[in-house]
Amino acid sequence: EANRVYNFNPGPATLPLSVLKEAQAEFLNFGDSGMSILEISHRAKPYAAVHAQAKADIKELMGLGDDYEVLFCQGGASQQFAMIPLNFASKDHPGSYVLSGSFASKAYKEAELLGVGEIAASSKDRDFKHIPIQEELKINPNAAYVHLCYNNTIYGTEYHYIPETNGVPLFADMSSDMLSRPLDFKKFDFIYAGVQKNLGPAGVVLVVAKKELLAKSPKTLPTMFRYSTFLEKDSLYNTPPAFCIYMVGKVAAWIKAEGGLEEMAKRNKKKAAVVYDAIDNSDGFYKGHADKDSRSFMNVTFRLPSEELEAKFVKEALAQGLSGVKGHRSVGGMRASIYNAMPYEGAEKLAQFMDNFRKENA
Ligand code: PMP
Repeated sequence: EANRVYNFNPGPATLPLSVLKEAQAEFLNFGDSGMSILEISHRAKPYAAVHAQAKADIKELMGLGDDYEVLFCQGGASQQFAMIPLNFASKDHPGSYVLSGSFASKAYKEAELLGVGEIAASSKDRDFKHIPIQEELKINPNAAYVHLCYNNTIYGTEYHYIPETNGVPLFADMSSDMLSRPLDFKKFDFIYAGVQKNLGPAGVVLVVAKKELLAKSPKTLPTMFRYSTFLEKDSLYNTPPAFCIYMVGKVAAWIKAEGGLEEMAKRNKKKAAVVYDAIDNSDGFYKGHADKDSRSFMNVTFRLPSEELEAKFVKEALAQGLSGVKGHRSVGGMRASIYNAMPYEGAEKLAQFMDNFRKENA
């Protein structure tokens, strides 16, 4: 598609072109219903098949069995920040948070607001440049859960290990690296992700968690804030964001067809390597924000020697069809988001541009 750019935005983000085309082809008449997916009832058969298949494909990709359930929630990952402590934490059994960046801290703030949060570790004093290592974590054996943000979208850091929590349930916000690589997902009790980075358009949050945990919601919570409602009603207590779920299903099917999470990981590593190499081989012109051992495969963050050069970089990149490389204001500089759907050619073109830009401006 000649008029499409390489889209490095952090989310909403680039989606596989073949998925967009499929959706376009089916848009006016979905499943021979004579209606668009936007118009069809969420109780109708063609939709039920989409709903079930998306769940099944996600679980299959993650290698999870019947003890886990996939929920489709709304309110963004941000609403999960509140729902998690509401459902699981108490003064006696607080939620214990690892602060590794902006969203990890926002999640903690909601628990703090409810008086049920504590901090297990923080890398704030080092400007969130690294992921706290196992030895830094203070695991409270009485905690209801340990909460991690597995990939820090803004700072460009990502976990490269699964913390040992000595039996305390492990919760993770995987909004920005969900289904980007194989992990031993069984080690997690509760995983959630806003889908608008790796998996679809904004509007639905994926929750993949142990059923026995989801069933435990306090009955005193309003209906839509209880995970047990979503569990018991198959995420169909109220009208779900059907179009988003349909798109997530298509992306999950695409991941499967491309070779699953192993293949995603292989590609993501290769893309990240070419961009990080452009940073590391720049004689200090580009400075990566993340410590090398905490670098994200999804969001590559770096600074240039001056803000003037950063503005020039963004402008000239865009002129070459490299869109969305401006970083988050809290870190400054650049951020290249290279999620599953970013082709290698995009990352390579960015790296090439970085080399040229440095030679012209150093
Ligand atoms: N967690 C992470 C890791 C994120 O990157 C984001 C969004 N950028 C959020 C949570 C918040 O997600 P939402 O906008 O869906 O509430």
